[in-house]
Amino acid sequence: MALIVQKYGGSSVSDATSIRRVARRIAQTRLAGNDVVVVVSAMGDTTDELIDLANELTQAPPTREMDILLTAGERISMSLLAMAIDALGVRAKSFTGQQAGVITDAEYGKAKIIDVTPSRIQRSLEKGSVAIVAGFQGVNQETNDVTTLGRGGSDTTAVALAAALGADVCEIYTDVDGIFTADPRIVPTARRVTRITYNEMLEMAANGAKVLALRCVEYGRRYGVPIHVRSSYSGLVGTLVTDDTHGDIPGLLPEDAEKSNQHGTAEDEMEAPIISGVAHDRTEAKITVVGLPDVPGTAATLFEIVASSGANIDMIVQNVSAAQTGLTDISFTLPAADAPPVIEALTKARSDIGFDELLFDDQIGKLSLVGAGMKSSPGVSARLFAALRDAGINIEMITTSEIRISVVTRAEELDSAVRAVHTAFNLDSAAEAVVYGGTGR
Ligand code: ADP
Ligand code: ASP
Ligand code: MG
Repeated sequence: MALIVQKYGGSSVSDATSIRRVARRIAQTRLAGNDVVVVVSAMGDTTDELIDLANELTQAPPTREMDILLTAGERISMSLLAMAIDALGVRAKSFTGQQAGVITDAEYGKAKIIDVTPSRIQRSLEKGSVAIVAGFQGVNQETNDVTTLGRGGSDTTAVALAAALGADVCEIYTDVDGIFTADPRIVPTARRVTRITYNEMLEMAANGAKVLALRCVEYGRRYGVPIHVRSSYSGLVGTLVTDDTHGDIPGLLPEDAEKSNQHGTAEDEMEAPIISGVAHDRTEAKITVVGLPDVPGTAATLFEIVASSGANIDMIVQNVSAAQTGLTDISFTLPAADAPPVIEALTKARSDIGFDELLFDDQIGKLSLVGAGMKSSPGVSARLFAALRDAGINIEMITTSEIRISVVTRAEELDSAVRAVHTAFNLDSAAEAVVYGGTGR
């Protein structure tokens, strides 16, 4: 008997039929003798729709109210799912983030979990109930206010609960069959990866692969929680995020293993590849500060102002200064949503910093090639750049880490760039990856 935490994403519970399908899977896991804790997201695109609604009423919704609004989505799905499981004759009880003991800091909209005290969940398990927990939400103990964990935060709720409960595995059920070498919505020939290390998945998630939220992977790494990403539609074995290179996937039902054997594996899977995947991100923007004096201290002043606006910058590029003028340009990227306060602060400080002009560009895309093997294989960058050249795609910025190379392209060229690079690294599979649901929003 195992303790299994299962998380179901929005597309997996988008209507009554899907909720019933998910309820059956949960009941099956419980009836096989496991203790089951379920974390659930808001139905379908509910969170996006609630955000749109708030934006229709005001340009700057108060962050506290926004969090109360958004947590309603997960409360709807948690109670409906509990009812659906109950209707199958299996006991289930739903809990809000607060009731489940998810304690966060006070940052509305992107709160960090500081503690998980799941005593009510444990009591519910002891009584033989399945515990359903609303994802993406917690409570700030000082103010007693509801907080949200940032987009995709239900993944983090699930892994944090799995760590606190000492679960055998955290299963993340979604609308694709696992983690692929690229987003299957863009690259239909993407290949499913059987295992991926926490560090590789961290780079993928940090660079736009939204199949797992970044914080959930950080949590998994810190507490050593095996994360099994799989489809709620097919029930096939998916991808295990773990640092173990061998060993069985914990928590599988006998019928899962059987189905996956028939599914065929060898051909569309890869063992220990150099490249684990190609991630992409469309959510960043680029700010260029034109005509900066090329003297010591300019970059420090500039980025102190950027930092005080609360923005997380990503890439930075400085041009060679023009000999005649002693002036240079600095470009940097940041999440587009963080840009307005940065532009405002920089514009105000223009005479102090002494630049000519500020350019803003939100039509950029970022492609990242990720793989732990690249540090020991020469020629990876050259192959990446050649693939983009052959596809006629211009590179605007480049950054590297030990296990990643990222480039910025025009937004409209990003999809072709991802496909070209995927092919250039021989990642294409003969089988087409299935996208079972969801709108990709
Ligand atoms: P959920 O609603 O279940 O949380 P998400 O939309 O957050 O689902 O994440 C699943 C989606 O992530 C997939 O439908 C896919 O489009 C996208 N995705 C991006 N990169 C990858 C990748 N490398 N492997 C698998 N899916 C990916
Ligand atoms: N419903 C939230 C979102 O859409 C949290 C989640 O689904 O993980 O971001
Ligand atoms: Mg998600």
